Amino acid sequence: MTNPSEHSQERRNIAVIGAGIVGVSCALYLQQAGFNVTMFDRDEPGSGATYGNACTFALYGSIPVNRPDLIWRFPSLMFGQERPLSIAWRYMPKMIPWLMQFLKHCRQEHVDRTINGLGSLLRDAEDASMILFRASGGNDLISRDGTIYIYPNGFTILDPKQITSRMVDHLCHTGGRFIKGEVSAVEAQTADGVAFKVNGSRHHYDQAVLAGGAWSMQIAKGGCEELPLDTERGYHVQFSESAELLNRPVGFADAGFYMTPMYQGLRAAGTVELGGLNAAPNPERLSYIERRVRQALPGAGPVSDTWLGFRPTLPDSLPVIGRSRHNPNLIFAFGHHHLGLTLGGITGKLVSEIAAGAILDRTDSVDDGDRFPDRTPAV
Ligand SMILES: Cc1cc2nc3c(=O)[nH]c(=O)nc-3n(C[C@H](O)[C@H](O)[C@H](O)COP(=O)(O)OP(=O)(O)OC[C@H]3O[C@@H](n4cnc5c(N)ncnc54)[C@H](O)[C@@H]3O)c2cc1C
Repeated sequence: MTNPSEHSQERRNIAVIGAGIVGVSCALYLQQAGFNVTMFDRDEPGSGATYGNACTFALYGSIPVNRPDLIWRFPSLMFGQERPLSIAWRYMPKMIPWLMQFLKHCRQEHVDRTINGLGSLLRDAEDASMILFRASGGNDLISRDGTIYIYPNGFTILDPKQITSRMVDHLCHTGGRFIKGEVSAVEAQTADGVAFKVNGSRHHYDQAVLAGGAWSMQIAKGGCEELPLDTERGYHVQFSESAELLNRPVGFADAGFYMTPMYQGLRAAGTVELGGLNAAPNPERLSYIERRVRQALPGAGPVSDTWLGFRPTLPDSLPVIGRSRHNPNLIFAFGHHHLGLTLGGITGKLVSEIAAGAILDRTDSVDDGDRFPDRTPAV
């Protein structure tokens, strides 16, 4: 890390776009660092991918989905009967460039780089999040029973939406603001800050954090370089009367999901569907999860809720944490794929250092080597 730049102290008004676990964590760390923070979300805090995930704080999760064995498993994953991966064929033409890059990153040298990058985030992830969870009164939403794979150091957030809401309450009680509104039209670099629209009106800040999860590129459209962000859609099926069947999360490895006892019952969450942000939920994926749960736990009660969520994923399975090249007052904090609940806190901590002027030499920044070689400004 280098020293903060001299002008950074004056640049105290900062917006955070997106109130998922990543954006909220950024907001709290920025607030602690003395920034005046305003958060924006079109919805209630924690309503995006953060709402319905598998609740596991996965400190062990440094091995990406795209690794060497995926190449030979890919055909059976695409065409087999009972499979955790599915593809919406109508979305395929749009998805091909992303998918090609995603598969290219199955090569061992890329995987090693991803493991190193995720490993460096995961090492400090627990401390960085626990500070925020405790300060926000979230202790009762944490269960430390490990996760059966078996990873004894994992823990569970019993209600990710609720903990995110409490973090936003804490932000607001300590001087920050949350504004509900649709953010759009981020302007290409303005000399003295960042400007964008909220429900049609122009807002201007010294700096802004783009933490819109899988929607980040849509929100920023035209206002910065375009990065190859797509989504790995995932589902959950909930059984409100069946939480007592398990006393900690169990990873159902070949089925591609976790079964987690949490506040709302037993939640089976996971699988990957490549199909973009707009297609309707696929009922076959939901019945696949339900069927596999009943195989493993024949005593599971009726289904009480189902959900489709959008993991924000870049082809190299690393998030992007750092300043935009083309709009340097805009700080990227998205792309946390299967690990956003785990990596929110550490991302927030890094973003607050970046906003204060630090230049961090990290494999998850936009500028690391040739990570995004052909990206031109979308202006
Ligand atoms: C099935 C499933 C299981 C998972 N299990 C785990 C797990 O066990 N452990 C783990 O660590 N991770 C898990 N994840 C991943 C994790 O949920 C995500 O990585 C994480 O929630 C991403 O957080 P985020 O804040 O970046 O995005 P989000 O939570 O999606 O937040 C983005 C926010 O941006 C807002 N937004 C979008 N567009 C606009 C706009 N135009 N204007 C204003 N606001 C906007 C949205 O409303 C949303 O609130 C899982 C994901 C899925 C789908």
